[in-house]
Amino acid sequence: MRWELIPKPRSIFLRVKCLKCANEQIVFERSSSYVKCTVCDELLAQPAGGKAKIRGEVLQSLS
Ligand SMILES: [Zn+2]
Repeated sequence: MRWELIPKPRSIFLRVKCLKCANEQIVFERSSSYVKCTVCDELLAQPAGGKAKIRGEVLQSLS
């Protein structure tokens, strides 16, 4: 059905674990800016045309 192709305008947050220092923080899935670890400054997410590319380990999705 056609309506299923329309993306849901729902905001999703991801709980991401930093691969470098194991810090956990919440990252907006559609972040349009670079998200860095608040502890060690490692890049956790980068903008990639709407949906952010997650560089860390995604532990959980929070809607
Ligand atoms: Zn870190």
